[in-house]
Amino acid sequence: MGMVLAVHGGAGSIPEELVASRRDGLEQALATGWQRLQQGEDALAAVVAAVEVMESLPQFNAGYGSTLTSSGTVEMDAGVMQGKGLHVGAVATISRVAHPIRLAVEVLHSPHILLAGAGAEAFAQSRNMPLIAPDDLISRRRRRMWEAWDHRPVDVMADDRGKTIQTDKDTVGAIALDSAGHVAAATSTGGMSWKLPGRVGDSPLVGAGFYADDALGAVSTTGWGETIARSLLGYRTVAGLEQFTPEESARRALQFLDESVQGSAGLILIRRDGEFTAAWNSAMMGYAVQREGEAPVIHQ
Ligand code: ASP
Repeated sequence: MGMVLAVHGGAGSIPEELVASRRDGLEQALATGWQRLQQGEDALAAVVAAVEVMESLPQFNAGYGSTLTSSGTVEMDAGVMQGKGLHVGAVATISRVAHPIRLAVEVLHSPHILLAGAGAEAFAQSRNMPLIAPDDLISRRRRRMWEAWDHRPVDVMADDRGKTIQTDKDTVGAIALDSAGHVAAATSTGGMSWKLPGRVGDSPLVGAGFYADDALGAVSTTGWGETIARSLLGYRTVAGLEQFTPEESARRALQFLDESVQGSAGLILIRRDGEFTAAWNSAMMGYAVQREGEAPVIHQ
């Protein structure tokens, strides 16, 4: 079976000054994850390696460079799932960990599936992951954006489709199929700009921000988290593979999101045989995909 790896850098329009660096970041993440697959590592290792790259780069909304809450703080969510055994690990509202996705993997290997806030950070320490100062995750660009924010309530901001939504949907994610036929999915985010402190989005919620099942496929989603969670977009898309092609399943899931909760989102999806699709009902979504024996494709 041919291996496949895909990454995304979030749904929504991309500011002109970030187009080139986003593209570079996607390329870098794809190359890093692909190397893992080529070295014989599994799909989980590949998606985590790819997401870690994007968590390090300030042009994405994850890890360093995460968007800020209404209080000017960073609160990150992340989730990961292994198609083999349906194992899940996720973290929510963490502020002192450089790589939330790495901590999500630690949770996956624990008896729990989701840890939040101070408890998650204490768990990180117990796993010998160093805690950093929350301000170390704030990039100059995000600080400037927060300072320029006019403090309008978030529920009156309109997106590029005229819907009520906040800006900055540039979460990162990855999905993979490895040589043994296992799939995995990972998603990591700083969340929505100017969210209330304590808000948890879709990204750490299994079936919403991510889903993986070896019997069907894997997905990572991005966009307006509340609507993604209410429509269970991740699970809906993967479950659709029982009946439909990836393209048709993604189309139907996004149509449901649109009609039932007036949502805005994008996703990358891989079927268990390696068939890949990307789809969105937001203005656009940056993604990259590598298939065995083919040149990487970057869509930005
Ligand atoms: N889905 C994320 C959230 O609502 C945002 C994003 O995808 O950029 O937290």
